[in-house]
Amino acid sequence: MKINKSKALYKKACRLMPMGVNSPVRAFRAVGGSPLFISKAKGSKIFDVDGNAYIDYVLSWGPMIVGHAHPAVVKAIKSAVEKGTSYGAPCPQEIELAELVMKAYPSIEKLRMVSSGTEATMSAIRVARGFTKRDKVVKFEGCYHGHSDGLLVKAGSGAMTFGVPDSPGVPADYAKNTLTLPYNDAKAFTSLIKKEWRSIACVIVEPVVGNIGCVLPKPGFLETLREVTVKHGIVLIFDEVMTGFRVAYGGAQKKFGIKPDLTCLGKVIGGGLPVGAYGGRNEIMSMVAPEGPVYQAGTLSGNPVAMTAGIETLRIINNKDAYKKLEKSMQQLEEGLRDAAAKAKVPTRFYRAGTMFCTYFTDSEVYDYETAKLADTAKFGRFFINMLNRGIYLAPSQFEAGFMSLAHTASDIDKTVSAAFDSLKKN
Ligand SMILES: *Cc1c(COP(=O)(O)O)cnc(C)c1O
Repeated sequence: MKINKSKALYKKACRLMPMGVNSPVRAFRAVGGSPLFISKAKGSKIFDVDGNAYIDYVLSWGPMIVGHAHPAVVKAIKSAVEKGTSYGAPCPQEIELAELVMKAYPSIEKLRMVSSGTEATMSAIRVARGFTKRDKVVKFEGCYHGHSDGLLVKAGSGAMTFGVPDSPGVPADYAKNTLTLPYNDAKAFTSLIKKEWRSIACVIVEPVVGNIGCVLPKPGFLETLREVTVKHGIVLIFDEVMTGFRVAYGGAQKKFGIKPDLTCLGKVIGGGLPVGAYGGRNEIMSMVAPEGPVYQAGTLSGNPVAMTAGIETLRIINNKDAYKKLEKSMQQLEEGLRDAAAKAKVPTRFYRAGTMFCTYFTDSEVYDYETAKLADTAKFGRFFINMLNRGIYLAPSQFEAGFMSLAHTASDIDKTVSAAFDSLKKN
């Protein structure tokens, strides 16, 4: 596969931006390749500047659940743009998207739109602190909640891929308010809370951890978080930026039947444009400015074009048939990848929740940060490059989830599975 133009652009980009990129994992550093520069995307495929096509399982890291450049989404965005791209004043689309979201997430009684997942989690924590008048936050190792200072402690995603779980530049004074625990360890959680609850404002968790691959909650883990936090007046925050509309239309809280106090959303709700949201119990959300004293604002928040992309995307997936189709495609891929690994005799573990998934190159069970780290990243790196050369675009790190879209066809998935078999055999 020729990627000369991408290579030339990368060289130039490296002089202009840190390692040539505007978000770390894009740089392919973890897999030892040169990143592709993308010129367009349509349906299940992305196309690089050299004219190569790839079946895409990154989907912009989750948002493109209906596929790239879906005609209905494109049409709606175009017509929104004609009416101006930002007003800095309320617009009807904010109400429409809020209503769509709240119908799917009954735990959200009031919400605030922001422009990224990072803003959503950062702001949710601020309001949880304002509400409880406590300072400490409990998070779990490997969970990634965006890059705000206090949350970059033992984080997943790029922070894990590059081995900098605790970023320089985060003052120890901030980090000391973040208590971290192993994911899926209900016992450790219960005993920490028993000791420290008086100073703990909130517990934030990815209900399925997508930022160390795909780690499922053990039965009872999320239930324990809910029970114990209620008992001690601690705000439970589900970070559903990735799982929202992904593991089910109603997110992980619907799938596992647990009602958090606050929920953070992003990715899918923006339909490929920058949108995040946080919301939950009215009593807590009423603390947000200007209704309450907890300050949070955004010049482009609730932007009419971004709202429109979200509304159109949710409209397309707001029915059983859409999720049936997604599930069918995902099953086909799961069976295919499991078979391919078995036939190629490469030990792997496959996990998924709805249409987020991960194949770990390990033969032991993965249930937290430490067990995910046992995966063979060199093997993954070779697999990644072999897949890329066969026209399959996976996330360039062992510790990221893959995603399925409505646009992926049975033949896309067949091609993916046979590419996986060839790649695994060569591994
Ligand atoms: C992607 C992600 C974020 C951060 O969202 P950005 O839009 O990249 O700031 C936060 N939490 C989770 C669970 C995510 O997957």
